[in-house]
Amino acid sequence: MKTFIKYLLLSIIVLGGVFASIYFLLLPSQLNSYTYTTEQIALIRENDLVYDFVRAGKSTLMSTALNNDAKNIERTDLYLVKDTDLPENVDYEHLYTVMSTLSEKGYDNEQVMKLIKSATLDELHILMDSPLPVNMDVLYSALDKKFPVVQAYQLSNMDRDLSSLIMNDGTDYSTTVKLNNMGYSVEDIKALNKLGNTELNMVTVMKYLEDLPTLVSNESFDMKLLPRYIMAIENEGYEAEDAIVYVNDNEDYVDVEDIDMYGLYSDDFRTENPGSYTALVNKNHYLNADYAPTDITEFSHEEMRTDVATALGSLFTALNEQKFETIIVDVGYVSYSEQEELFNRYLEMFEDDEEKALERTPYAGYSEHQTGLAVDFYIRGSNFEDYEGYQWMLDNIHNYGFILRYPAGKEFLTGFPSEPKHFRFVGVEAAKIMHDYEWTLEEYKTIFE
Ligand code: ZN
Repeated sequence: MKTFIKYLLLSIIVLGGVFASIYFLLLPSQLNSYTYTTEQIALIRENDLVYDFVRAGKSTLMSTALNNDAKNIERTDLYLVKDTDLPENVDYEHLYTVMSTLSEKGYDNEQVMKLIKSATLDELHILMDSPLPVNMDVLYSALDKKFPVVQAYQLSNMDRDLSSLIMNDGTDYSTTVKLNNMGYSVEDIKALNKLGNTELNMVTVMKYLEDLPTLVSNESFDMKLLPRYIMAIENEGYEAEDAIVYVNDNEDYVDVEDIDMYGLYSDDFRTENPGSYTALVNKNHYLNADYAPTDITEFSHEEMRTDVATALGSLFTALNEQKFETIIVDVGYVSYSEQEELFNRYLEMFEDDEEKALERTPYAGYSEHQTGLAVDFYIRGSNFEDYEGYQWMLDNIHNYGFILRYPAGKEFLTGFPSEPKHFRFVGVEAAKIMHDYEWTLEEYKTIFE
């Protein structure tokens, strides 16, 4: 019995050996079928890598690498990637160049392997053409977290706190980067994240407001009152926390009877970017005598800027569709010299009483009709606020890019008495924001450029 077992074991060993030898003898021919050249196969055998190469499967990338440089036989960790693990129709020569460059540059071979499986050649080119990231580990973990290569690269060059905010706290990449570029710190951004996405996006197009993170952190913060908080801080010297109490209690409100409509005029500020749709012209922001818009066109027998005329065309069509009576444009663009004449006529009428004249019309340079963006409407037989379509206009006119410029109750902000017929074109985007948050142009300009 014992002898039988001995023979059996011996036979197994011998047979096993024979099969193994046949197998190993066949391996090189397997390599042949993977399109390695005879020289390459010899090289593979010399380096005892036959088994690794067979196991890896067909790797055109590896044979490309060997074609380029036989020394690449030592870099199986980089190039021995199975064809089926790569995207279809890959340009192997191109891929080899990118990989060898990245590897020489200092990228970890294992990571380069990972990269070529997940990134496109274009993306890899970005890495190839850019300096090594400051925080290599951040790049790798961002790639693990499936960030696109470009973002992963940018994350790896950021302040670590900022990249970790995006990668670990899940804050939106582009919003966070924008906020940071504006000047908000990581702590600021954490505070700002209490705002919803819509408002956070709005913050990215506002001015940088140093006090915003503190304001937002306060439980009583109200976005609608933000411009007034900022005015209280900037113009009246309040601390952020106190500004919230002050404005929430409506302490900044001034009754229309108590406003010195005449005394508000000053030459403190010249209007910046007078051609902009949101240019601010009021009692302390004036236009130069030589400012005139260059794209004046005619609509409804009045002059105005081209985009205002187009928007009015759409508005009039809509009013018509609503079966409202047609309205008339009473005043559009008024040039500096026309305004000067108008003011002087009133001055004459009131025997040089400037205050009385100013109750009727502003000084030349202080009327926003000079921008070509303001329009006064008119309706036959009644005041414009009694127009049958007036409420519809208040509810919808922002969709055409207009705002009611001087609303009742906001005189302390605009410096002008309520004027129901005077509308101002600011562009659809700004008009929607002002409508949604009930901001006057003065408020909007406090927080937007
Ligand atoms: Zn007007």
